[in-house]
Amino acid sequence: MDLDFSAEQDAFRAEARAWLAARVPEGPLPSLETEEGFAAHREWEARLAADRWSVVSWPEEYGGRGADIFQWLIFEEEYFAAGAPGRVSQNGINLLAPTLFDHATDEQRARVLPSMATGEVVWAQAWSEPESGSDLASLRSTAVRTPGGWLLSGQKTWSSRAAFADRAFGIFRSDPDADRPHRGLTYLMFDLRAPGVTVRPIGRLDGKPAFAELFLDEVFVPDEDVIGEAGRGWRIAMSTTGNERGLMLRSPGRFLAAAGRLARDWRTYGDPADTAVRDRVADALIGARAYQLFTWANASRFAAGETIGAESSLNKVFWSEYDIALHETALELMGSDGELADGKWAEGYVFALAGPIYAGTNEIQRDIIAERLLGLPKGRR
Ligand SMILES: Cc1cc2nc3c(=O)[nH]c(=O)nc-3n(C[C@H](O)[C@H](O)[C@H](O)COP(=O)(O)OP(=O)(O)OC[C@H]3O[C@@H](n4cnc5c(N)ncnc54)[C@H](O)[C@@H]3O)c2cc1C
Repeated sequence: MDLDFSAEQDAFRAEARAWLAARVPEGPLPSLETEEGFAAHREWEARLAADRWSVVSWPEEYGGRGADIFQWLIFEEEYFAAGAPGRVSQNGINLLAPTLFDHATDEQRARVLPSMATGEVVWAQAWSEPESGSDLASLRSTAVRTPGGWLLSGQKTWSSRAAFADRAFGIFRSDPDADRPHRGLTYLMFDLRAPGVTVRPIGRLDGKPAFAELFLDEVFVPDEDVIGEAGRGWRIAMSTTGNERGLMLRSPGRFLAAAGRLARDWRTYGDPADTAVRDRVADALIGARAYQLFTWANASRFAAGETIGAESSLNKVFWSEYDIALHETALELMGSDGELADGKWAEGYVFALAGPIYAGTNEIQRDIIAERLLGLPKGRR
């Protein structure tokens, strides 16, 4: 096994680092969960896209660099190390785009991907419903056939960034008579400003509208916005969840940068006599490095043509629990300064608490690990 980078990879890293060093805004942008911050982050996406850094792994025809998975990971490491802004387009780039690459037509890819790459169109994920989260297949929103397309009705919830986003992708029940709940579902894209759509923002604990509920009343969607075959939406959706839990969502670059910051804070705030906190800082550094190596190992398997399937659940449980432990350590180390000095650790902690819930709850991930990876008997449901 060769753990060294090639000269070409080193050159790619140097190019990314130089670009970011010259362009990352000096101060933080306003929160992307506000209208002003959303607009500022959209502009940042356009700056990234202008030099083909917004979607490095996409083919050039859609705005990417055709970078391989290793270059993509290198870019992520540099991005977080440079303290660059959060990505307002991440739902589209990380969830919808891989689905389009796998299941869409050439026409759909050519129509949807370039404006996603520039941040001109920001996408929201409309999967969850008030009674359908973990048991997503029980969803009740409908897609009813109409000449030239479909009429969507029902309610979606917890749609991140939908308060300010432009379009959404989701699954809808198109055949109420199908013999199983996960059959007869169709995967569609729709406009959040179309007639019949009501977007009601949901405030977070800090009041910022990080989510929205979507009320749909006979919203027309043309046939050209159905992804894959009508009625086969479940299979398509399941290929997206692997991306969400696995490689894409929580890049090791993010944790390496956060653990590095924690170690620097330890040097400033740490009490050498408090070996318990010191050990947890060391654990955070080791955890970030272990996660990085695990991700690189998975990337090697992808590059060799393998898939990771149910193993993405291991990743999901790890990154979500690691994130909470890292932030708890930081808050303990910094005491009241953690909340008062710059607020970044406290804000990160509140968001980390949601990690075991979104992208599929950890209880469900543990069931998947038990049944599909360890071959244990199915639990009672
Ligand atoms: C920060 C954040 C962002 C989100 N963004 C989006 C988004 O953009 N788009 C979107 O569509 N959704 C989004 N969601 C919703 C998210 O996908 C759901 O919250 C999640 O799937 C859980 O569903 P639920 O909330 O209905 O909880 P439930 O499914 O009701 O679960 C409640 C509890 O019961 C447990 N449980 C349920 N079934 C079982 C079982 N069979 N075995 C063991 N335990 C079980 C769960 O693990 C959980 O602990 C987001 C959520 C959060 C927190």
